[in-house]
Amino acid sequence: MLRYDDINEISDGRLYSENDMVRVDTNGCEGCSKCCESDMGKSIVLDPYDIFHMTEGAGKTFDELLVSFLVELDMIDNIVLPHIKMDNGCGFLNADKRCSIHKYRPSICRLFPLGRLYNDKGFDYILQTGECIKDNCSKIKVDKWLGIEDLPRHSAFINKWHRFLQFERKKVREIIERAENEALRISSISEEDLTVYAGIIGDSEILDEKGIDKYRIEKCAAFREKAQEGSKAVMKTVLRIFYMEEYKHTEDFFAQFDERLKKCLSELRRIN
Ligand code: SF4
Ligand code: SF4
Repeated sequence: MLRYDDINEISDGRLYSENDMVRVDTNGCEGCSKCCESDMGKSIVLDPYDIFHMTEGAGKTFDELLVSFLVELDMIDNIVLPHIKMDNGCGFLNADKRCSIHKYRPSICRLFPLGRLYNDKGFDYILQTGECIKDNCSKIKVDKWLGIEDLPRHSAFINKWHRFLQFERKKVREIIERAENEALRISSISEEDLTVYAGIIGDSEILDEKGIDKYRIEKCAAFREKAQEGSKAVMKTVLRIFYMEEYKHTEDFFAQFDERLKKCLSELRRIN
């Protein structure tokens, strides 16, 4: 995650809003497709708005994008998220080296070479330097460069999504930390306390059968396994609700997102 301290290293040091003019207009990239052909790793992370549009533009469901190796899932800052598969360039680049889903391309592609820098209230745009090889880009207003329909609602969605991902990361972290603390406690308490603990949770017979050392080891492993299951359940829930369940392309995306957000938060509340 970028911090404000980092911006002078990767950008021109300015923060832009959607009404600012910025020198990023590559004039259609004019025969250059360097970005789309590069191995950009996991950098084009896809949000639900991207999937809403890409599934329409590509005529494929999210599952079909995965099995066609156009999109893949990876751990990104401790949670699983989809991104464009870029190890041999992007699969959406056509034979003429143009984006086959240009109108529906993800917002990170629309932004480039701009990026977003999040703060407590929302985000600013930054101009990443050393990314685009063109040195004669023209000035253009940020909102025009993005070309996103209903940018205010999109920006509100980006803020909500960013906060939601922070919540998801925190939830996963808490599940794992809680289990780790329990495992640490069990691994360090005295035999006497462990026997009392086993009695309280109805494990006395199991403890007698396994012996104290084996019981202790298996109990710690069970806490860690439960945490793995819990964190996987969180991530699977998020993937299912925001990515795998198909969107209605004839209906407003933002309203569908808000509904899914409510549903997801309610399901996540039940996972510990
Ligand atoms: S989706 Fe389009 S613009 Fe984005 S990397 Fe792929 S080909 Fe390039
Ligand atoms: S390097 Fe610049 S001109 Fe080339 S594809 Fe990327 S953004 Fe376009």
